[in-house]
Amino acid sequence: SFTTRASAQPLKNADELIDSVETFIFDCDGVIWKGDKLIDGVPETLELLRSKGKRLVFVTNNSTKSRKQYGKKFETLGLNVNEEEIFASSFAAAAYLKSINFPKDKKEDGEKKIELKPGFRMEHDENVGAVVVGFDRYFNYYKVQYATLCIRENPGCLFIATNRDAVTHLTDVQEWAGGGSMVGAISGSTQREPLVVGKPSTFMMDYLATKFGITKSQICMVGDRLDTDILFGQNGGCKTLLVLSGVTTLSMLQNPKNTIQPDFYTNKISDFLSLRAA
Ligand code: PLP
Ligand code: CA
Repeated sequence: SFTTRASAQPLKNADELIDSVETFIFDCDGVIWKGDKLIDGVPETLELLRSKGKRLVFVTNNSTKSRKQYGKKFETLGLNVNEEEIFASSFAAAAYLKSINFPKDKKEDGEKKIELKPGFRMEHDENVGAVVVGFDRYFNYYKVQYATLCIRENPGCLFIATNRDAVTHLTDVQEWAGGGSMVGAISGSTQREPLVVGKPSTFMMDYLATKFGITKSQICMVGDRLDTDILFGQNGGCKTLLVLSGVTTLSMLQNPKNTIQPDFYTNKISDFLSLRAA
């Protein structure tokens, strides 16, 4: 048997939602900012939630920055966010490896400059025990080959993906191939499926719940993407709020072919400031 989720409801009473949870997990791009531009009303909204004693956590599938670099980005945008509240998919990959006591001493630079000649053979380090694939604008064939050799030839080598986003918004005028494109290449050559540590997989949710001692039903996941953010929240048994300030439009949400329905939707998180109880 299967159950069908009710269609998403427009958010009408923000206070009721805010009072019903203790933690808000915010996706970043499309919710907090768009590229390098802060979305309207975000600082005031975060302050409102903090003043109500809510725990705030920020989870992004963008693997290209470290926690420290994200801390700087929040600061530059004038947001009062602590590094310890930020969880990027790159952080998730490191946290996963730590959780399985993966030894820390090996690090391979995937950059390879190669001239193919007859008889040429690419050597690889037989001690590599994990290949982590994240977003890489300089991805190339030789990196695929190196990763493929490690995964296929090193016994027990792990294949980890930070995320599988199909597309991303590198510029505001076009969709660009996302992290899923690099993962797809290596999945294609190895015929293996990666362990995904970013959204929508449950790893980050379990990690956060354990780290902060949060009950998942006491979390509201807020995001702009159905197949990563909303699914991430639903996989974790959280409340979910879709905002229309990013990649998903109302007609995409209401398209009969869409099977992912959040609990609520609204235009942007600063609607929390206006949709108050009378
Ligand atoms: N991956 C890359 C390379 C990106 O540039 C972005 C958004 O900027 C994302 C993933 C998605 O990030 P988020 O999960 O914050 O929407
Ligand atoms: Ca997003």
